[in-house]
Amino acid sequence: MIQMKIVYWLVLISTFLGIYYLGSKTDLKLWGRVIIALALGIIIGFIFGDLAETSKWIGDLFVRLIRMLVVPLIFTSLVSGVVAMGDPKKLGSIGIKSIGLYLITTLFAIIIGLILGTIFKPGNGIDLTGVDPFTSGVASMSVAERLFGIIPMNPFSSLANGEVLPIIFFSILLGIGIIMGGDKTKSLGNFFSAAAEAVLKIAHMVMQVAPYGVLSLVAWVSGTMGLAALQNLLVLTVILYMGCLFHMIFVYGGLIRIFAKLPLKNFFRGILDAQAVAYSTSSSSATLPVTLQCVQENLGVKKTVASSVLPLGATINMDGTALYLGIVALFAAQIFGIDLSFTDYLLIAMTATLTSIGTAGIPSASLFLLATVLSVIGVSDEQTALIVGFVLPFDRILDMARTAVNITGDATVSVLVAKSENEIDEDVFRENAVL
Ligand code: ASP
Repeated sequence: MIQMKIVYWLVLISTFLGIYYLGSKTDLKLWGRVIIALALGIIIGFIFGDLAETSKWIGDLFVRLIRMLVVPLIFTSLVSGVVAMGDPKKLGSIGIKSIGLYLITTLFAIIIGLILGTIFKPGNGIDLTGVDPFTSGVASMSVAERLFGIIPMNPFSSLANGEVLPIIFFSILLGIGIIMGGDKTKSLGNFFSAAAEAVLKIAHMVMQVAPYGVLSLVAWVSGTMGLAALQNLLVLTVILYMGCLFHMIFVYGGLIRIFAKLPLKNFFRGILDAQAVAYSTSSSSATLPVTLQCVQENLGVKKTVASSVLPLGATINMDGTALYLGIVALFAAQIFGIDLSFTDYLLIAMTATLTSIGTAGIPSASLFLLATVLSVIGVSDEQTALIVGFVLPFDRILDMARTAVNITGDATVSVLVAKSENEIDEDVFRENAVL
């Protein structure tokens, strides 16, 4: 065992060195290195199995580094973004457009989930009687609670606790205050703009370690749950991945191509880093700094739009999650022999949309909100616990795909809104070779 561990670490370190070499001696861009790291991570995890657990800390370190930037980045870039806008009315139109688009894309996602779940029947042939009932310990907030909580009682405690929606609320007001102050507050506006610039520079530095973090996290997932998940949840996993790909290519791709009239290749290449980080960390909110960076620097979306649309999206827009909730609802209905009427489908779509809005952007958040969706089709708490217990050990693999979709949806909406508000530098989008 000890020898294997040494071999594992030797392989890992040489892979790291290889990736480092690629970065320093060739002109391979960061996104290229991240993709290579992702692929190698899957292979290394597959070969070394549980041993990959021993290097997970490298991934955790990377996640901590980007999480560190979430609050400073939202706060500084949103305040300076609002100030740069110059006109608070514009904010209203950006807000309405982004929320509208967020809802529409989520509805598409859930419809795709329901169609795939109906055609491919992931629940067929699965027997859940041997699974231990499992009750979740993760607390969740209702949509109503979230709405009320948007207004911070104390903005500083919201900043300290990383509560994204209250931070957004306060930052927008502060930005408007700075605009209204005219010359007197101009220097404060400049301060926030300089601070946002500095935090983005830190994000750049942190991203240099992305390939190593991504590799370690993916190796851990593929090493500790890869094969087992494939055997137990094969159909569910394949359907979810198919749905996610379909949604990304046709819904997001269609929107970017048809409505924004921009080249798809550049879009997907521009957000690859964010997708890889979302895929390996399973957390939209941890990925937010990277999404902000990719969307601004590679897709040319101006700070005014990116800094408001993306943090909002990372909090309320979860298309991959909605798609997943739809599929699992059908999975449950098939396992427990529940006949679904058209009204049931509508109910699932509605609750899945609302639940996805209320889902936190952290790993496996939606798994613990399954009960909300399942209860509308008459699945009991006991039965839900069975499903959660069954899916939980492998949820990471499902979570990775849905999180990548979640952040791709945020990026898509930011491009569409930026395009319609004339807040996009299309030359940057078309060129797209920054990182
Ligand atoms: N992990 C997902 C996210 O961060 C949420 C989920 O569990 O579906 O976007």
